Amino acid sequence: MMTTKPKTAIVNCEQIVTICSNHQQFLAGKKQDIIESIERRNQIGVSIVFADDGRIMAIDYHDRIDNWLCQNYGDNCWQTIDTIDGNGCSLIPGLIDSHSHPIWAGDRIDEFDRKLRGETYMQIHESGGGINYTVRETKRATESELLQSFLQRINQMISCGTTILECKTGYGLDYECERKMLRVIQQASTMSPIQLVPTFLGAHSIPSGMTADQGVEHVCTMMEQLSRKEPELKIEFFDVFCETGVYNHKQTEQILRRAKELYPKSYLTFHGDELSDQDSGRLAAKISAHSISHLEYLNTDGIEVMANRNIAAIINPTTCYLLKLRKPPVREMIANGVPIVIATDYNPNALCYSLPMAMNLATIHLGMTLNESLIATTLNAAYALNRSNDYGSLEIGKLGNCLLLNCSDWRHLIAEFGHTSSLIRNVIINGKRIQ
Ligand SMILES: [Zn+2]
Repeated sequence: MMTTKPKTAIVNCEQIVTICSNHQQFLAGKKQDIIESIERRNQIGVSIVFADDGRIMAIDYHDRIDNWLCQNYGDNCWQTIDTIDGNGCSLIPGLIDSHSHPIWAGDRIDEFDRKLRGETYMQIHESGGGINYTVRETKRATESELLQSFLQRINQMISCGTTILECKTGYGLDYECERKMLRVIQQASTMSPIQLVPTFLGAHSIPSGMTADQGVEHVCTMMEQLSRKEPELKIEFFDVFCETGVYNHKQTEQILRRAKELYPKSYLTFHGDELSDQDSGRLAAKISAHSISHLEYLNTDGIEVMANRNIAAIINPTTCYLLKLRKPPVREMIANGVPIVIATDYNPNALCYSLPMAMNLATIHLGMTLNESLIATTLNAAYALNRSNDYGSLEIGKLGNCLLLNCSDWRHLIAEFGHTSSLIRNVIINGKRIQ
């Protein structure tokens, strides 16, 4: 006898995009271009049922779902199920944003203007603007101010389809402020309807007045203090900005090795090869990093290493577009079998809440297909956050995060760019509609 009961159902959809059906952890190479879906047949739509524990119980044609439910739960079972009409709609897995910097204070809109007038990211950085400005403002802000603006940003992201959000610290750069940011993530986790994944990025930038080697020591001390004094502050990932003028290959390695010693259960990632070749693939292999972000300058060896070790490539098309960077070699990565992930990289400098917008840029600007882009923000993004056992595809037994779209074919979500929110009719988190 089943112990869980059906709680929510979305019925008679035109299409349910399941992504895959064999509990794959990720899809790479040619497989990243193949999505599985169930399409309306004649008059019979497709339905999905979620249990009271939030997990998916059944996905099938509606007549079969109806029979199955009535046989197992009685003819009156529909009366107690929250039923959402999916007529005219497509259902897809909830989108997952695996790279964001959503906690900060201060406004950097003037930098947008400066960049349009020809200044580069590093020029603004070196003139005391950029991240240094955000760090000053974030230090000044109270915990509750940061929490309020963060919660508002989360809501914006949910309305664009984000159902799990990775959140980086890195605008404190000292113990007090980095701890404040981790506390804000922890507090927001109890208030937000979506899961937040905390990443410590104390090595986002070298604090002013320090050399990079002093910065390494400083970051290691912060991590030691956090592990000793704040063991209840959850950190799932450790990240470093590996770049010329920030932390180089060797310094990144030092910081991440120390992180893993202090937090053996955590995962390692880093910002690599964004503005120059840092031999990121080799670095990731040495320290067993789970993913690398950006990768505009990834070299051929790096592509091979990432493919062989299933290291996720987190591509940020918004940053690439806004900073007019060289395009990451996405097609070469796919041809070699690197699992590609797309994230927003939401930050004070790239104010895009919308994964569908990032997917649109990934298609037109980086040459990805629509299918590849959807897998890059669902199953592969779940893999990048170590969550593909529970999320990223619609399969029986997985947790029910999904989006009901106001279109009979999901591809409108990417095609109708700049218009995300109105295409998303409902957001379902762990089998419950939250919007
Ligand atoms: Zn970033």
